[in-house]
Amino acid sequence: MIQPTAAAPTGPVAVPYHRIPDYIKGMALPDEITVLYPRLSRDDRDKEKEDDSNSIVNQKKILGKYAMENHLPNPVFFTDDGISGTTFERPDFKVAIELVGTGRVKNFVVKDMSRFGRDYIQVGLYTEVMFPEANVRFIALYDNVDSDKGADDLTPFRNIMNEWYARDTSKKVRAVFRAKGMAGEPMSTHVPYGYVRDPNDKKRWVVDEESAEVVRQIFRWCMTGLGPGHIATRLQEARADCPSYRAAKLGTPVSRPPETPWAWRDTIVSDILARAEYLGHTVNFKTYRKSYKSKKALKNDPSQHVIFENTHEAIVDQDTFDRVQQIRAGKRRRNSSGRVGLFSGMAYCADCGSKMHMSSNANRPPEQDNYTCSGFRLKNRDCGSSHYIRRVILDGLVLEQIQHVTSFAARYEREFVELLKRDGADKSRKELLASKRKLTQAESRIAELDNIVQRIYEDNISGKLTDERFMKLSRGYEAEQRELTAQTAELAGQIAAQEQKTLDLSRFLAQVRKHTCVEKLTPTLLNELVERIEIHVTDKSGGKRTQQIDVYFNFVGLIGKLDFAPQSPAAQAAGGANPGNPPKPAAQALQS
Ligand SMILES: [Zn+2]
Repeated sequence: MIQPTAAAPTGPVAVPYHRIPDYIKGMALPDEITVLYPRLSRDDRDKEKEDDSNSIVNQKKILGKYAMENHLPNPVFFTDDGISGTTFERPDFKVAIELVGTGRVKNFVVKDMSRFGRDYIQVGLYTEVMFPEANVRFIALYDNVDSDKGADDLTPFRNIMNEWYARDTSKKVRAVFRAKGMAGEPMSTHVPYGYVRDPNDKKRWVVDEESAEVVRQIFRWCMTGLGPGHIATRLQEARADCPSYRAAKLGTPVSRPPETPWAWRDTIVSDILARAEYLGHTVNFKTYRKSYKSKKALKNDPSQHVIFENTHEAIVDQDTFDRVQQIRAGKRRRNSSGRVGLFSGMAYCADCGSKMHMSSNANRPPEQDNYTCSGFRLKNRDCGSSHYIRRVILDGLVLEQIQHVTSFAARYEREFVELLKRDGADKSRKELLASKRKLTQAESRIAELDNIVQRIYEDNISGKLTDERFMKLSRGYEAEQRELTAQTAELAGQIAAQEQKTLDLSRFLAQVRKHTCVEKLTPTLLNELVERIEIHVTDKSGGKRTQQIDVYFNFVGLIGKLDFAPQSPAAQAAGGANPGNPPKPAAQALQS
């Protein structure tokens, strides 16, 4: 056996490794040094009895030998004994790093990467960022890492570093973004359809008249009761430029150009209908990304949005926008017959607050379409009747009330205003109280149901209740609870709306002036004037069928009440003795 010759001295050995100096605070150091860094943690020291390969002495041997064999200039031991690799708060390590910062360190040698540190990110920061910048050759002997020998050995660290870099950069970019967004600068890279960047100030949007007119038309169509799908079809027919096509035309690069210039889809229309930007506001933080790696933008909850009002010219007025949001929240559905209920999303049961659904049948004439309470159909406990009303009857009654109010307001505007002022405040307070009462009731019933379900569960466990019976009961209670939960959410929304609603008479009057001579109900008319219609149960006492309908007008709420008899709606609707019908007494007062 021939011993390998590598260990044999091949050149002059300047100093035996045990003569290499240990760093001592304040010692004079040459301008070019080689840092040899042995480290031992307390854990390592305990293990040393079995395995001394990591002992300070052993590490010094290895490092010293290497430094001398490779003629690394002026080696000095920087030693941290008894300190963990998870921290970089190590006295000698810190000195060595400071020296790196001064540019005096030519080589930095460790036995293996773990001697250097166990926090990959931090390790990477030194080996991948700081050392190359300071021109330090970094060597981890047992890991085969040598920065002079190219990048390959460092790949695993580079990967970790890349990630770290990416995360750090993204954080910084996000911080800048956040600051801009909070300052009201539009953050969206895309200017919404209807606007174009101001050529004089890239941060500002100005109206692009051609597409702005399309936006206005979209809102108008929505007010007439058309859904996004139909609006999209009309836009295609009208050959209107779709947003991405328009953007490309105006010089914005688009990732995927549309197939045709008028590639409208229902989702594009619904997005436009929901954008508060058309009111002239800047809305920031509408989306967020889960991580810097993710390309997918997720929608932020509206409570996270930051809105800056009147940052640019509005395309749509507030009233139209608000009404469109209400319409969209009520989402009118087309019936199986293809006929759309004029009042869907607007008509409610006066007793249980559920929506009235229109039922119609393609095989029956439209006159037989009718509305019934959806809560009653679901066996809502507050509702003991279907609240059935034929569509034509409801049409007539609502038209009558609207005519009544608008014609009166047109003739006696001053008196009308005074009248509304007088009892408006009182009424909205009552409405608010009623909603709050309903909410409390629903909430206590939800809690009650929790207890009931708990009890029957216990009975089932103890054997008092069969599995079959238990399943049946619990399903019923759970359905009721679900229904109530949905209702409380809606009530809470109503209460919030009522609480901030100021009796805005001038807004109402502006709408009324547009409709002084109403002859026919149209969706636009209804959307502009009416907020909600409540349908009471048919009253058969007194031998006549009467049914009360409450029309809640936009901005002002309930104005008058009507009773009617299907045989002669007009006669009954007048409801002479009805004290809740203010226009009549006011009219009389005026004549006297
Ligand atoms: Zn009902």
